[in-house]
Amino acid sequence: MDNTLQMVDLKGQYLKIKDEIDAGIAEVLDSSAFINGPAVKAFASELAQWLGVKHVIPCANGTDALQIALMALGLKPGDEVIVPAFTYVASAEVIGLLGLVPVMVDVDPATFNVTAANLESALSPRSRAVIPVHLFGQSCDMEPILAFAEKHNLYVVEDNAQAIGARYTFSDGRVKRTGTMGHIGCTSFFPSKNLGCYGDGGALCTDDDALAEKLRMIANHGQKVKYHHSVIGCNSRLDTIQAAVLRVKLRHLEEYCSARAAAAEVYSGLLGAFDPDGKFFDLPARLHASTHVYHQYTLKVRGGRRDALKEHLASLGIPSMVYYPLPLQEQEAFRSIARAASELKASKECAYSVLSLPMHTELTREMQERVADAVKSFFTGLQQ
Ligand SMILES: *Cc1c(COP(=O)(O)O)cnc(C)c1O
Repeated sequence: MDNTLQMVDLKGQYLKIKDEIDAGIAEVLDSSAFINGPAVKAFASELAQWLGVKHVIPCANGTDALQIALMALGLKPGDEVIVPAFTYVASAEVIGLLGLVPVMVDVDPATFNVTAANLESALSPRSRAVIPVHLFGQSCDMEPILAFAEKHNLYVVEDNAQAIGARYTFSDGRVKRTGTMGHIGCTSFFPSKNLGCYGDGGALCTDDDALAEKLRMIANHGQKVKYHHSVIGCNSRLDTIQAAVLRVKLRHLEEYCSARAAAAEVYSGLLGAFDPDGKFFDLPARLHASTHVYHQYTLKVRGGRRDALKEHLASLGIPSMVYYPLPLQEQEAFRSIARAASELKASKECAYSVLSLPMHTELTREMQERVADAVKSFFTGLQQ
């Protein structure tokens, strides 16, 4: 077994399911149905069933999914779409790409996610849609967000690229998977995502029949009937080989979610025992209503020591990553096109203090102890 610590271990995960994956890929090669082969349809229906949603529309990547979602809503140039300032660029990039106005809102500094209260500050007569991002694998608090959106007649497009598999419980006891609560859910199958393929891939999902038809059409050159184009669309497909990989990995997704949650618990146990009062860092905060699938296990490092901790870890052979070092309001690309709903203090604070530790399905207790010991040695070193 490979004992090198990596942020993600795609190879180790592959080796455990190699026979299934290789057989799936061989079948595609054999049939040579590389585009829209039977595995694509089969995967879409299996994922729909897994998520508990009526329609899944596969596409080329997660960014395309977000773009196609916004294209389907009939928005006009200048219309505003509300998006968290602390997220991966794709969530906001597509808004700008379509000539819409990204309105950046702050996140909750503990959960890293937007809240209904934050959204309130962004409202204007041009508000049309909101993109809650379930960052790092935990659901946003969707019940108040959905109520807010309904009250103000806004579309809800969930960015579920990092949280596939997480469950949210409503106050009446209903449980839903992230990505299935808004009008449209978008996800990514980038290799390092919780359900990753071996290249690029993405999908949209919705319970709305009319929206599903539109999304399908837009992803396919705006056509329903071949060579008859009713709207301007794009060319965004999941290829058959990737669908074959995803069909196999979907069968393991529940166990992958559990493995990540178990690894998170180990980290929290080791690190929480070392810093019980949160003097040095905050452990990932939990939202009571949501499960967490830990796309990332992210600490908030206190006292401006994040970069020094990262360097210390690197010197001990422990990788770590900063997701994401700049909040949107500090990105040059958005300077002239976006509007900030507030000072966005929490987003800035997060960007300058977060550090994600190695997190994947193949972590061993021994590896995690090495990570935790390295973190501890940094802070005990400071005290000497
Ligand atoms: C990965 C990711 C995307 C984009 O997915 P791609 O498949 O890389 O285009 C969008 N939003 C978030 C939050 C992501 O993490």
